[in-house]
Order: sequence, then structure tokens, then C-alpha cells
Amino acid sequence: MSLQAFISRRVVTGGEVRPAAILVEGEQIRAVVSPEQTPVGVEAHDFGDTAILPGLVDSHLHINEPGRTDWEGFSAATRAAAAGGYTMLVDMPLNCLPATTNVAALETKREAARGKCRVDWAAWGGVVKDNQDDIEALAAAGVLGFKCFLIHPGIDGFTMVSEEDLRAALPHLARTGLPLLVHAELAAPLEAATQRLAHADWKAYATYLQSRPDEAELSAIGMMLSLCRQYRFRLHIVHLSTSRALPELQAARSEGLAVSLETCPHYLHLAAETIANGATLCKCAPPIRTRENREALWQGLKDGVIDLVATDHSPCPPVMKRAEEGNFKTAWGGISSLSVALPVMWTEARARGFGLTDIARWMAEASAQLAGCNASKGRIAAGYDADLVVFDPEAEFQVTPERLHFRYPVSPYLGENLRGVVKATYLRGHAVFLNGEFPGDPGGREWRR
Ligand SMILES: [Zn+2]
Repeated sequence: MSLQAFISRRVVTGGEVRPAAILVEGEQIRAVVSPEQTPVGVEAHDFGDTAILPGLVDSHLHINEPGRTDWEGFSAATRAAAAGGYTMLVDMPLNCLPATTNVAALETKREAARGKCRVDWAAWGGVVKDNQDDIEALAAAGVLGFKCFLIHPGIDGFTMVSEEDLRAALPHLARTGLPLLVHAELAAPLEAATQRLAHADWKAYATYLQSRPDEAELSAIGMMLSLCRQYRFRLHIVHLSTSRALPELQAARSEGLAVSLETCPHYLHLAAETIANGATLCKCAPPIRTRENREALWQGLKDGVIDLVATDHSPCPPVMKRAEEGNFKTAWGGISSLSVALPVMWTEARARGFGLTDIARWMAEASAQLAGCNASKGRIAAGYDADLVVFDPEAEFQVTPERLHFRYPVSPYLGENLRGVVKATYLRGHAVFLNGEFPGDPGGREWRR
């Protein structure tokens, strides 16, 4: 089998950044050695001072295929992923149709993905109102875990669950040993707030923010923690937006509950104070909160209370963002970021004194751990898949439509100047993004346990 060596003075491996040669045999890393130990006669790629990170793992995104391929789909999403340094995606069970709530739907998704993917992928299953009996079958069929909503998800084809529904589902879920990913907002505080704002100006971002108060997240998290205490399942809170939940979550973990936490690049980069009225590209749920809240989320990452950063990449046809009316009530909530999440995160992280090892932990290692693919993905080490990102941490660029590679080049980051450029992405030893191009045929496949 042919041997390749990926060499750099800045390889992110084993919790540090050091000069190394990554020796790749076929699709896997055989060893990580010092550059002088590179065997003669191998195909060597020397990247000099440009860093090499593990291929990123996105544990939260919406590919929208099958059923809503006009929103994006496997081809465009995995192309954007390759351009953004991601080599493994775990697709949410909703926005596609049918939603991934039974084995037949999972098989339909597999069929839809075939031959289209430029990076590896896997599926989360859904826990909805009436599919308790599908949970263990979905686990056996290969989903990596489950997702549920405690409020209406804003889209047809996927139902929210009540506490009672969860009590019916959780014994099944606990038996699978897989994590339950929860959209943690409760309906009652949202409905009350929205009612008070019936006559407010819905072009104002402040109105939208008030309509999704911190209390909705806090009460949902409180409910999930008490269920976790009772049913002893792995609980994961997706896209945490309110920093006010951090003390309770930290306490739950100290108590021994299996709780993990994610936040997203947009909560760590944008802030309510600077979102213009009518700027519906910044609408997502839970909402982007204040600058002060953003800094507290960064502190949560620093303290290790927040485990990981996932994109929650969630595209839609541009018309659904209702840019012309600028109405935050009727616009689709979702932010696309797959191809720029790494530079967005690096720009912010570097300014706060974090390093590339932190980025690799939040965006590759910890997300792989959540998904259970952490024995082959998320690290540069012997025996792991040769998934690598070649990343220039000093280079700057402006986000232009050509750089997004989404189905629709729409993003709140357009026009921003960011630091850190993805030069190349390798999936299992093969270049899937190089010098702005996507070489070869789509070679991504479903990751299976
Ligand atoms: Zn989502």
C-alpha cells in the first residue's frame, strides 16, 4: 500500500502543536513521527509553517435531503464541508422528508446520499411524539443517537415531545446507551412572551430577542436534568444560547449526570447589540443574545463546561429569509456556516488567547466523542482515519459568495474579514478540497459503528 507523509512545523496532535510528519498508509494514519524520521521514498506533502489539524467533525447540521433538496442536499452540503475543513457530518433527523424517525426513513436517507458525498457522514434519529417503538430499532440500524424538540420545530414532518412523551421514550433510549440531543426551549415562556409582543415592531431584532427569553432555555434544561437524574441516559444540550444555564449544568455534571453541551459559532461571534433591524439572516433559535452573554459563553468554553462547538448549519431557499420585509416573526430561523465556521471560530478564539489545540478539541475531538466515532475520527494519531485540514492561521480573507459553496450563497458572515484560511482538506488520505477545487469523485461514505 502506498505511503504518504503530511509534514508541517505545526501539527495539532496529542493536545499540543509541534513539528511532525503524519505517515498515512492507505486511508489511515500509521504513525505520527518527527519530520526527520520521514521514511525515504514516500510521497511527501510538506506544508511548512501552515498548520495541520484533525478533520473537523460537525455533530449538528441539517442537510435537508431527501425531501427538501431544493434547500440544499448532500452534494452541496458536503462540498461546503470539505471547503470548511470538515470531514465528518452527523445529519439531524429533521428538515429532510421523511424525517428520520424510523428505519425505513433512515434507509431512504442512505439511498439519497449514495454517490453524492465528498466527506463522511452519519445520521441522528428523531424522538417524536409517537415513535417510542422505533427507537431501539433505529439504534440497531446505525443512527449515532437521537434528537428531540421540546417546542414546535418550526417545520412540518417532525413533532415536538412533551414531558409525558419523553417518559414513554426514555426507557428505550437509555437501553441504547446513545445520547439524546435536545433542543432546549419550553413553549410556555415563549408563547407568553410572544403574546405580550403582539403589537411590537417585528422588524426590530430586540423584539425577536424578547420573544425567546432565557427562561425558556432555563426551564427546559431544568426539566431535562431532572429526567436525566431519573432515567440515567446521556443528555446533550444542543446550541446553548443562554450563559445563565452554565452554573446549573456544571452542578449537574459534578453530581455525576452524563450531560454534555454545545454552542455554535454564531453565538460566539455575533451579538444582539449589532444585529440591524430587518437582518433576518441572523435569525436562529434560540436567539443570539447580548455581547455580555457571548463573553460568558466563551468563559464556559474556557472552563470546560461547554464541550464542543457545532455549526447548526441550517440553510433554506433565500426567499424564506424574507429579506425584503425583514420580519423576524415570519422569516425562517437558521444560519448557514459550514464553509466558514472554522475561520469564524479561529478569529474569535485567537483574539481571546485560545490556541489551535482548543479549536481541535471543540470542533473535532469532542464532537466525535458525542457521536461515538472518536476511535477513528477527530484526532491525529496512529490508527485514526487520515482526515486532515491544512489551515493557515495567519492568512486573512473576506467572505464572498464564491467562498461559501452552499447551494445558496446566503450567510450573515458575507463581507466579513476573517482570519485563517483552509488550504486543503483530506478525507482518509485523499484530497477532497485543494486550492479552491474539489478533486475527484465524491468518496465520502456513511460512518458505521
Ligand atoms: Zn439544528
